[in-house]
Amino acid sequence: MIAFCEKCHGMVTYSIKTIILKKEIKEKTCKFQGMKAYCTECGNELFVASIHDQNLIRLEKEYKNSNGCK
Ligand SMILES: [Zn+2]
Repeated sequence: MIAFCEKCHGMVTYSIKTIILKKEIKEKTCKFQGMKAYCTECGNELFVASIHDQNLIRLEKEYKNSNGCK
């Protein structure tokens, strides 16, 4: 599990934290359990495409169920 860190300016290992994310869709605020990646060197939040995709899938599920969207 490595990704590019802007602060370290290189490829670093990262850790994943599960957190509650909020996203607004069509005037509703959707809460869902998402993931974020953090650089193990400096703690900077990293953009990881596969994690971003996972979050989108989870958000989509939540939006369809509408349990988390109010
Ligand atoms: Zn870093």
